[in-house]
Amino acid sequence: MTYAQRTDHLKPEGAYKVLARAQQMEAEGKEIIHFEIGQPDYQTFSNISLAGIRAIEQGHTRYTPPAGMPTLCEAIAKDSGKRRGIQIHPDEVVVSPGAKPNLFFPTLALVEPGDEVIYPDPGFPTYEAMIRLAGGVPIAVPLQEETNFSFDLDTFDRSLNTQTKLIILNSPGNPTGGVIPLPHLEHIAEQAQRNQCWVMSDEIYSRMVYDGLKEHSIASLPGMQSRTIIVDGFSKTYAMTGWRLGYGIMPIELARRVELLLTHSLGSTAHFTQYAGLEALAGPQEEVDAMVAEFQRRRDVIVAGLNSIPGIRCQKPHGAFYVFPNIQETGLTSNELANLILEKAGVALLPGSAFGKYGEGYLRLSYATSIENIKRGLLRVQSVLEKLKK
Ligand code: PLP
Repeated sequence: MTYAQRTDHLKPEGAYKVLARAQQMEAEGKEIIHFEIGQPDYQTFSNISLAGIRAIEQGHTRYTPPAGMPTLCEAIAKDSGKRRGIQIHPDEVVVSPGAKPNLFFPTLALVEPGDEVIYPDPGFPTYEAMIRLAGGVPIAVPLQEETNFSFDLDTFDRSLNTQTKLIILNSPGNPTGGVIPLPHLEHIAEQAQRNQCWVMSDEIYSRMVYDGLKEHSIASLPGMQSRTIIVDGFSKTYAMTGWRLGYGIMPIELARRVELLLTHSLGSTAHFTQYAGLEALAGPQEEVDAMVAEFQRRRDVIVAGLNSIPGIRCQKPHGAFYVFPNIQETGLTSNELANLILEKAGVALLPGSAFGKYGEGYLRLSYATSIENIKRGLLRVQSVLEKLKK
């Protein structure tokens, strides 16, 4: 049998591989503490779940317009515009099953074979996969620990050229939790305009920003909305990863092309899921705020705990629910250390190298788990590292 070459480069996400091994160990009777999973440990808030159930009962189980129910597009335009201080027309909104199709389809609609696409490394593995599937050339720009995992701007500047079609940003970021500071966003915006590039701004963690910092979208900088795709969704903010509901916001001509890609692939997003999304935006936001406040408390506990373990150094990230500690002092690769910690201590976490070559020397831990689990997990990690030193 032969297969089309275009899928040869695809690899599973690191998180799924580690989760599978952790579940195998659990089936053998071992108790595993999970830091590998990239989703809130909260249940979907009950007003949202009930709205979804009600929608099914009322027969909202049909096809919808491919770009989403007009009422939902309007609600998203209003909410997203208000949060970012920009005007968004509902026709600029494309609803999708999760945020991922709104990463993938705009890339397909923009990138010609041979076009270069700049993306963050360490970064969400889907970026490189979708650039390659579109026939583009992925240009990894390193994130720097010293600047709280923002782009290394010198390398960024040197990576731009006439072939650059698209720049992908992710702030707050996965896997680092880094938030791109405003002056960096301004620099990137200036370069995008000078070099006539599009910008894809993955803002899926935009509601999870700590320490009183304000979320900044590059789309709200002068001249940027007409060349930016904002990617956001309900998965993280409303603990709705399994409902599959996300969206993209982009100039209308691009939105119509993305809508056509949706029409001929996914058809539309589940009807009742969109009703749940309407309730998420219209309903009270206190539970989101409480969850984000709890994440900040957990972040403080996990950062302090990691920094007290010899061989580990951890920056305090300002967003999302990940920490990205530096483990270079241990002398092990991130894969070796992650495997050792899983096998010896029953703690599942991810090697930084699962997020690109510049992720080597780091681990990713998700702190979307209880403070009790964080404390127990870190004690176990500490015991592995102490034995390493002997
Ligand atoms: N973008 C980033 C940076 C993510 O971390 C994730 C999920 O982990 C997504 C996009 C995908 O979101 P969704 O589950 O809504 O497709």
